[in-house]
Amino acid sequence: MYDAIVIGARVSGAPTALLLARKGHRVLLLDRATFPSDTVSTHMITVEGSAQLRRWGLLHQIEASGCPAVTNIVLDLCFERYGHFTLEGFPYPDEDGFAAIYAPKRTVLDKILVDAAAAAGAEVREGFSVREVLTEGGRVVGVRGRGASGIPVTERARVVVGADGLRSIVAQTVSAPEYHVVPPKAFGYYTYWDDVQLKGLEFFTRPGSTVIAFPTHDEQAAVFIERPERDFADFRSDVHAAYLKTVDDIAPDLGARLEGGRLAHRFMGAGNRPNFFRKPYGPGWALVGDAGVHKDPITAQGITDAFRDAELLAQALDAGFRGRMPLETALATYEYRRNEALKPLYDFIVDHAAMEPFDPAFQDVLAAMRGNQDAINRFFGVIQNTVPWAEFFSPQNLSALMGLADAALPAEAELPGDAEVPAVSAEPELADAG
Ligand SMILES: Cc1cc2nc3c(=O)[nH]c(=O)nc-3n(C[C@H](O)[C@H](O)[C@H](O)COP(=O)(O)OP(=O)(O)OC[C@H]3O[C@@H](n4cnc5c(N)ncnc54)[C@H](O)[C@@H]3O)c2cc1C
Repeated sequence: MYDAIVIGARVSGAPTALLLARKGHRVLLLDRATFPSDTVSTHMITVEGSAQLRRWGLLHQIEASGCPAVTNIVLDLCFERYGHFTLEGFPYPDEDGFAAIYAPKRTVLDKILVDAAAAAGAEVREGFSVREVLTEGGRVVGVRGRGASGIPVTERARVVVGADGLRSIVAQTVSAPEYHVVPPKAFGYYTYWDDVQLKGLEFFTRPGSTVIAFPTHDEQAAVFIERPERDFADFRSDVHAAYLKTVDDIAPDLGARLEGGRLAHRFMGAGNRPNFFRKPYGPGWALVGDAGVHKDPITAQGITDAFRDAELLAQALDAGFRGRMPLETALATYEYRRNEALKPLYDFIVDHAAMEPFDPAFQDVLAAMRGNQDAINRFFGVIQNTVPWAEFFSPQNLSALMGLADAALPAEAELPGDAEVPAVSAEPELADAG
């Protein structure tokens, strides 16, 4: 009998297992994959996510693997009213003085995380496929599955954690309720290039297209494009040509650099990816990572969010297992904190993933940042999770940025983060999840 069985050993499951094992709990970590293994995902980790790796004592392994640090962001924009312009800078350091983005390939990152979970004392079974989540009297009690031997195995735990991605078997078994559901908005394709120089993280956004380029292992440039879901079938009829055309159309300078470089990998991509929150706990079960919240990858946020939620969930389970508070209360706290941290950015992401023209008020805000390095760095801090949304998008800050009196901000202006942050109605009273 384990304290927790974690299904899925990537960026949400391995850290959850690692943190629980470090707190002295008995953990079984399962994945049908064997590591190192790749997955369909680019892998830019925000400043906040990179700082999280540093706090867990794992960032030095990422650095030692030859993954370069990114310390410059170029946001490339073009609006009818303002023409073409770029905002270039980098977010302020976090409170520990740390400021860098890393983009380790998933073959490297996920292996480091799985090994760290094992080193912390979690029992890891790779190549183990969970076929059934076991329930008794309305409560999840364990899993049944098969490893390499093919012999069916049953394991039991106090809690089964679904860190098993978008189509989570745990979420399906318990019919986890979904909320804030938004249908798929975009699809994405990426590949790697040799001999392509980048200025750091380069982000190009126009109505109908987004292109993101960043340096990674093997001195390669990863270049990721996103287009609206309605273009998916057309795009797939000739991925190579459509990918290059997307880059050339909105980032011709980058397109020229790709032409001078060498394609180093096949194209990888995914569409039909809905956006939703799921209730992340119930009797004997919990969800973390994409299994708990899934959103379009247009702002490259999923790994950072998975790290944060792994930590919140491990804190909650520890508080419940140790009896510092009822497990259900601790898990309600987890849901509240997850939603509070994510909802403003989630709204921005699903809006942005539609790749419609930006709201005029938001265009004004972006244009007002030209030549204001402090504002640019703070805005990038919002996207990189080191500056709170509410702080940057406060009427006072926006008025100062745009040289307006508070009252002069248009009342109907729709700015990112405007939407209310409902989720769970209130933070449970016993909120100290330790
Ligand atoms: C095209 C694309 C680009 C992206 N780019 C970025 C980016 O640049 N930065 C970023 O932060 N995020 C990015 N994301 C999002 C990011 O990939 C996800 O948010 C993240 O991988 C979620 O991690 P996870 O551990 O929750 O789930 P997953 O990575 O989906 O892992 C789930 C694991 O569970 C295992 N599993 C599932 N079912 C079972 C079962 N029944 N038995 C055993 N094992 C099982 C699977 O084998 C898998 O290893 C991107 C996503 C896509 C699609």
